[in-house]
Amino acid sequence: MEIEIATIGGYEEVGRQMTAVRAGDDIVIFDMGLNLSKVLIHDNIRTEGMHSLDLIDMGAIPDDRVMSDLEGDVKAIVPTHGHLDHIGAIPKLAHRYDAPIVASPFTLALVEGEIHDENKFHVQNDLVEMEAGETMSIGERTELEFVNVTHSTIDAVNPVIHTPEGAIVYGLDKRIDHTPVIGDPIDMKRFREIGREDEGVLCYIEDCTNANKKGRTPSEAVARSQLHDVMKSLEDYDGGIVATTFASHIARVSSLIEFAEEIGREPVLLGRSMEQYSGTADRIGATSLPDDIGMYGHRKSVDRAFERIMNEGKDEYLPIVTGHQGEPRAMLTRMGRGETTFELDDGDKVLFSAGIIPEPTNEGQRYQAESLLKMQGARIYDDIHVSGHLRQEGHYEMLDALQPQHVIPAHQDIGGFSGYVDLAGNQGYKLGRDLHVTSNGNIIELV
Ligand SMILES: [Zn+2]
Repeated sequence: MEIEIATIGGYEEVGRQMTAVRAGDDIVIFDMGLNLSKVLIHDNIRTEGMHSLDLIDMGAIPDDRVMSDLEGDVKAIVPTHGHLDHIGAIPKLAHRYDAPIVASPFTLALVEGEIHDENKFHVQNDLVEMEAGETMSIGERTELEFVNVTHSTIDAVNPVIHTPEGAIVYGLDKRIDHTPVIGDPIDMKRFREIGREDEGVLCYIEDCTNANKKGRTPSEAVARSQLHDVMKSLEDYDGGIVATTFASHIARVSSLIEFAEEIGREPVLLGRSMEQYSGTADRIGATSLPDDIGMYGHRKSVDRAFERIMNEGKDEYLPIVTGHQGEPRAMLTRMGRGETTFELDDGDKVLFSAGIIPEPTNEGQRYQAESLLKMQGARIYDDIHVSGHLRQEGHYEMLDALQPQHVIPAHQDIGGFSGYVDLAGNQGYKLGRDLHVTSNGNIIELV
């Protein structure tokens, strides 16, 4: 059986992920993501009404025209988790393929939301739910399996295609977390089993986001304990405290809610994406928010919530808001600009439970947002956070578990791959032979 891998997007950047695997006549697409920084760099662009080709030209979504070079039928579109760099292009591209979208429950619910918000195209692909640990037949001799992994959002999986030539493991995005706060630990046992099967692993596509970083990515339990330490230290503070994190980071948002209550403050979720992600997780039962929690996305309801907080006393509340990267239209940035009724006083605390995504647009915007907050007297606690991506020791662990014949580094640019090339080289892989550093729009023939 011929096996080909098309590296469509996310092989020259962190963003707009898309990869296709052809096994004989059957093709499976992994991820269809958006490169948000290519959108944000243009002021006030709204992608909902834009055409795919314009977005491809901007570098915002994957250029999937290479798909016409693959001979076979697309049998499934499989987003691995709900981050926009993995699902954000589905509303723009999925309708071109006559195939169902197969994903875990939380991911699928977010995909549904993305499709609903789309104005230009009418995506009508079937939506099929599949949980980690389950399998689905793709062709006569190929099967799709979801292996549970841990990441900075819930319900993330690594899909595996089992073929007579061996397994193809799509390893984006994860860290090895044995205490993830919400959800099950990463299923390393299953990865080791797949590695030991008779056919073995033909190819492993790896998340290289942190491949240039030494050591091991800490567990979410570590971030939770850092956050607890900070919030406990503020128990007696009688002014305003504001916290921000990734809206999709359901475990972190849950920890913030829990610790707010522990120090006697009422948590309130503010901002459109906070409402969207937490509301979705609660609706599908992935997390259980307090029954009476305030959750406001629309401008008017947010304004009313801020007014109530100012009237009743800032020391009674913990607003949990969007804007951890300093995004110009997010809630925290608006607070920094004095555009909300929430007034920051000298000494008020702003907790960033997020790292800065290392990208010039983010870095500039975050610097600006922090400066605006500081000008109003706010004191900043930054980087109360652990990454959702493997560092070098995690990569060694995965290679050891899977023993793949071929490895393809992904989710980075060429500079970002260098750490991975070094460590894979230490494990006996050779560039151009079984270690395939590639770029967007290529097809790698494996068998
Ligand atoms: Zn991710």
